[in-house]
Parts: sequence; C-alpha cells; structure tokens
Amino acid sequence: MGEQTGDHNPIQAAAQQTAPPGAAAAGPAAAAPVEELNEDGTPLTEKQKKKRAEKAEKQRIKEEKAAKIAAEKAAKENEVDFAAQNYGQLPLNQSQERHGIEFTPLGAISAERDGERVFVQARLQLCRSTSAKLAFLVLRNRFDCVQAVLAETPDQVSRKMVKWTASLPVETLLNLEASISKTAKPIESSVISVKDAELKIHKIHSLGAVVPTADQKFSVQDATRSEAEIEASQSTEQPMPSIGLDTRLDNRVLDLRTTTNQAIFRLTHGVCRLFREFLDTKDFIEIHSPKLQGAATESGASVFKVSYFKGQAFLAQSPQLAKQMAIAADFGRVYEIGPVFRAEDSNTPRHMTEFTGLDLEMAFSEHYHEVLDLMAELFTFIFRELPKRYRKEIDTVKRQYPTPEFLVPAQPVRLNWKEGIKMLREAGSQIGELEDMDTETERLLGKLVREKYNTDFFMLDKFPLDIRPFYTMPDPTDSNYSNSYDFFMRGQEILSGAQRVHDPDLLAKRMEKAGIPVSAMQGYFDAFRLGAPPHAGGGIGLERVVMLYLGLRNIRLTSLFPRDPKRLEP
Ligand code: ATP
Repeated sequence: MGEQTGDHNPIQAAAQQTAPPGAAAAGPAAAAPVEELNEDGTPLTEKQKKKRAEKAEKQRIKEEKAAKIAAEKAAKENEVDFAAQNYGQLPLNQSQERHGIEFTPLGAISAERDGERVFVQARLQLCRSTSAKLAFLVLRNRFDCVQAVLAETPDQVSRKMVKWTASLPVETLLNLEASISKTAKPIESSVISVKDAELKIHKIHSLGAVVPTADQKFSVQDATRSEAEIEASQSTEQPMPSIGLDTRLDNRVLDLRTTTNQAIFRLTHGVCRLFREFLDTKDFIEIHSPKLQGAATESGASVFKVSYFKGQAFLAQSPQLAKQMAIAADFGRVYEIGPVFRAEDSNTPRHMTEFTGLDLEMAFSEHYHEVLDLMAELFTFIFRELPKRYRKEIDTVKRQYPTPEFLVPAQPVRLNWKEGIKMLREAGSQIGELEDMDTETERLLGKLVREKYNTDFFMLDKFPLDIRPFYTMPDPTDSNYSNSYDFFMRGQEILSGAQRVHDPDLLAKRMEKAGIPVSAMQGYFDAFRLGAPPHAGGGIGLERVVMLYLGLRNIRLTSLFPRDPKRLEP
C-alpha cells in the first residue's frame, strides 16, 4: 500500500484506458451522427427506422430486466442468513472446547421419547431434497438408521440451510441437534431400523468434507441391500446394483460401515466375550504366546517364512506347542485368542491365510472326555447367550442375508467316528473306515445329523489316528483310532482337538513316525521330559464360527480385513 497515493485509483485508471474512443469525444464539438444505411447503401425508410428503434427499445428493456434479477440475486446472496449459526462445517476439531455434550445413539431413539431434544452424531447415508424448503435424510450410526427431516421454518431453518444440507455428499459425518418425533405409522423402508420415530432437525453441522475416491463404486445404502431386494428391483425403473465381494473388500472401510457389517463384528466381539466369560468361570487363564518361531514345526509346508535379522523365522500356524508347554509349566487351564497363520494355497469360501484362533488347553483328572464335556458346555453357553444378548445384531444381519436360525439341541450331540461313517454309508457315501472326510462328505454328515437330531451343532469323536497330527494320543483300545475330535456347525468343521501325548517316550515314537527329528522341537519335547499332566484341548476358528452361526456363505465376510492367497490389502 506504501506506494499508492490516495488519489490514484487503479481500477478507474484501467477503465479510462479501455474507454471507447467515441465516449471521449462526446460534447459540443462532437461530429454529427452518422446516418444509418441499408446493406445496399440506400438510406433507411421511416418505417425501417421505426422498426429498428422498437427493436433497440425491446433489447434495452430485456437487458434492464436481466440486470435487475442479477442484482436481486446478488443481494439475496449477500443478505444475512438468519439460520447461519445452525448449519455449516465445523472448524477442525483440535479439542478446543469441552461442553459436555452427550450424543444419543440412533438405536435409543423411539416413539416413547416423542418431543425430546437430542444431540446426535451420525453419517449421512442418503439425502433427498423434494423442494427448496424440505429435505429428507437417512442418518446412520453403528447398526441403526433413522429417518430425519429438515424443513424450512421462519426462525430456525432457512432455505439456504436446506440447500446446503442437500448438497452434502453421502457419508458426511454430522453433528445434529434435533427433536424426536413419533411417526403416524411405522416407516416401511427396509433400510430404516428405527420404525416408530424420526428426527426433526434444528441444527446440522458437518465435521469435515468427504471426498469420494475414484474407485469407490458403491454407496453404503446399496451395499446393505439383500439379494432378494436387488433381484426384485431389476424389473423396475430403478434397478439396484449388486456389489461383488471383491469390490466390497477393495473398499472395505466403506463396506464395513453397513449396518450388517457393524452387526457382524459386534457378534464376533460377542463370541470372544462369551468364550472368555465362560472359561474365566472355569478357572482358565488367558495366555499370549509368540507368533514368531525359530523352526517350522507342526507342518513345514503350511508355515510362512519371514526374514529375521540375518536369518529367518516362521509365523506360528497355531499356539499348539506353546499352550501344551504352558500345561507342562503347571498353568492347568489356559486359553488364547490370537492370530493364526497358514501358508496354504486354499482358495475356498472357508479358508484364509490368517485367521483368529480361539484356543484352549487343559489338564484333566482321568479322561479326555472331561475336556470334551467342558467344550460342549462352552459352545452350549455361547449358542444360548448369543441370541439373548445379540438378538438385534443377528436380526440386522438376517435382513441382508436371510438364513434359518441356528439350531441347538438342549443336550449337545456327540457321535463316534464309526457311527458317522455308518450314517454316511447308509446315505450312499463310499467313504472308507479310516479315510479323512472331504468338505462334501462333512456337509452330508451335517445334513444327516440335522435330520436325525434336529441340530446344527455336533461333535465327532475318535478320529482315525493316521489322519491326525503326531501329538494326538492313540486310542488305548484300538490303535487305528485316537482320542481326538472335531466339532461341526452347519456341516463344517469349526474345532479340532485331542488328548495330547504327554509321555516323552511315546511322543518320541510318534515324532519319529511323522518324520520329525526330536532335535527340531527340542524345547517342546523337553517340556514333557520334565513331566506333564494328561491334557487335552482344541483350536477353534473364530471367523468360521461367526460365519456358520449366521449362515453366511464366505468366511471373508466375517474377517475385518481378510488375508487369503490373493489378498493382502487393504
Ligand atoms: P480344514 O480341514 O477346514 O482346513 P484344519 O483341519 O486344517 O481345517 P485345524 O488346523 O485343526 O484345521 O484348525 C482348527 C480350526 O481352525 C478349524 O476347525 C477351523 O475352525 C479353523 N481353521 C483352520 N484352518 C483355517 C483357515 N485356513 N482359515 C480359517 N479358519 C481355519
């Protein structure tokens, strides 16, 4: 500003420089106006002159009108919005203030709270503006969706506020102040979970801008549709898109926001919580075993090798050895919830290369059936408590993936391997007495057990010895069989376990038969030389339990960020 003097106006100066030459010449000495001529050079007739004058006047009126409208519009835009305080983007939260605001979860909104004013934090799932005065919103948090209305009022909600709201991209995170309003009749939409009440918005602020990424190919609303809904919509004017599993997984953060996924992972949490709760009452302690190991122990082929300083290490394919060593260390009863790594190129709907193991191991007094009974009780507890404590989550998942309720008998069914083989053969299977069951055979057995015992859960005991790992205790009455078992849900294996060999001499023999030198597992082996109590346990796949409990078709749906032979991201 220092160089500019008060009488120098750069805008005026520029305007003078660009003024048309004719304008500067206006005044008494100006030349006489040039007479208008026709194209052929002849002078205009009076009629022509009149017509031209009329046209010019019309144009002037038109321009005047346009200028007036533009001026009015500009004035309106500059005019102070009485609702300006009630909407807009909030400044970046750097924890500037603390007012003690408590947000009401959407799930807590109901007709009984009609008239109550609440603070809500939610995502904008959908916004439909039907006029300049009115917008309908679908708001979502966790696994609830509520309908909200923003309507113009004389003192609180301006048209500008409605316009701003209607321009927000879906997924914008919002802070709202609203009143609960009982609806005249239940809301029919399958997306809305609060059916008897809606929110009347008084204030709406966004927490930050949402910038959709280029490869984002779906909305959360679309990702929540059931197959039946999508199919039924195909013959309508607005066919709904079907979103494939890979697209979902590529955009997993967005996908995880669906009410269905929110419910799935709350149920997953529920399974872990119930697992812990039950075992804690039975005097177990939770342990945390290392996932980095110095040798590829149980089965070299399915172990991931990783570089480890100048050498190499292996990722644990189960906490098997550690939990047995904890028993040899007199821990008595242990469990662990942790990652399990499998380097198996299995591209199936039930295998991943990393999953969460729910493992337990316990010393018993006389017979491994003490452990089997405890595990049967554990599953009965989980299956009984899940629908009691997580009914809403289960129903939310069923809205998108409808499946029959998981059937559990009062008394868990325990079959012997031989009985299982007999049932399969009677149903036409060619399976050999000591042959391992493939997936199809397991499914058939599950179907037969369901028909006979009306259950989706059963235990199969006394597996053939040769199809089990070296640490499995042989059956004392028939060395073809072993003290080992699997548990099944909807005809698929979810647990594998056994009485383990705790005698060092027998263990050495079993290792030799399996082609594993004792020196390769010296620490493990020495644990039994120091003396260990008889013990048994099992390993459960968490994602499989949740998948099968809910009747889902792919294990990836129950893994937060699934890892399989083809996927390491996101
Ligand atoms: P499967 O025969 O189904 O491949 P497995 O016999 O290799 O399983 P175990 O090593 O006994 O399984 O593991 C115990 C449990 O861990 C299984 O019953 C299952 O619930 C889970 N599990 C095993 N492998 C996987 C995997 N690759 N992905 C997800 N869960 C698994």
